[in-house]
Order: sequence, then structure tokens, then C-alpha cells
Amino acid sequence: MSDAFFKYVSLKETLFSKLSYDENGRLLLGNVIVLIVPRRIFSTVQKSISDILGDGCAALVMYNAGYSIGYDVLSKVIEKFSNDIRSAFEFFMTILTTRGWGELKIVEFDTDKNTYRVQVRSSYGEDLKPSRRAVCHFIRGLLTGSLQCLTDSRGKDVKLYSRETKCVAKGDPYCEFLIAEVKKFAKIT
Ligand SMILES: [Zn+2]
Repeated sequence: MSDAFFKYVSLKETLFSKLSYDENGRLLLGNVIVLIVPRRIFSTVQKSISDILGDGCAALVMYNAGYSIGYDVLSKVIEKFSNDIRSAFEFFMTILTTRGWGELKIVEFDTDKNTYRVQVRSSYGEDLKPSRRAVCHFIRGLLTGSLQCLTDSRGKDVKLYSRETKCVAKGDPYCEFLIAEVKKFAKIT
């Protein structure tokens, strides 16, 4: 993993030295209650929603959950970055990478065109192979929600949409997400 991912917070600092238990046996990372579970448990939750309610419903549920979390996290940290929205987003990517969501890399970050592209290696989509469709709806939600928060923070009246254009679950070497205004998608379909 590249050192660039630890620009803001070191793995040692964020994870190992901050784990503790409170007096009632809850596991804490800093002052946040956490669970440590195999990644396949998360993937199995998505698969169960998909099996029972269908792929479309699973996509909506997981995307919406990720979107809410991404938006909320950025709304809490943005002030620390003095409106440097790229740094705020890189910080969020570092958190996701160190927490095991995959190795995230910015491919495009164009605030003028409201167009963003992010690659993710080793995502939880590996657990959902084989698939004919992209499956990393939760990560897509995290990225879209966080970027929507940053867009809103600049006072822009822009709604962002997203698509996972490559996914490891359908045989691509990595996952790739395009987050942009709806008109951008009209051009690529
Ligand atoms: Zn994927």
C-alpha cells in the first residue's frame, strides 16, 4: 500500500494504538464504538438483500446507506480543511483505505466540471464474484454522498449521480466509480 494513503493519519495511529474496551466491554476505536468482523459478513448482508428482494433493491438500500454515511462524515470534518475540498476528500479516502474498504485512488477530480473518478482495488466486490453487474453499491454511495456534501459546501446547486463503470465482481481488475452531473451520463450511454 502506498505511503500516500497515510498522508493525514498513520495506520498505527488510527487503528492499533486507538483500540480499547470501555468498562462495559464495548470495543472502541478512539471514542467510536466499532465491530471487527470478517468482510464477508458485510458482503453476505448485501447478498441476502439481493437474494430476497432483488438486485435493484439491494443497490438502492446499500447505496442509500453509504450515501448517508459519506455525507455525514464529510459534513463533520470539512471545517478542519478550510474549504480545501480535495484534502477533505483525500482524508476520507485514507479513512476508508485504512478501515479495509479497499485501496482508493483519485483518477479525476474536476470541481469546475463537477466530475470525479475514483478507482478502488481489492473492494468487497471480490466476495460477490461472479456477477454480471457492478455490485459495490455501498462504496458508490460513500463516494457520492461525500462529494455531494463537498459540492453543497461550496454553495453549488448541483446534484451528483454515480455509476460503477468497472467492478472486480464482473471480472475487471479493479472497481471504478464515476461521480458527476446527470448530463455526463447521457454522453457515455
Ligand atoms: Zn465493485
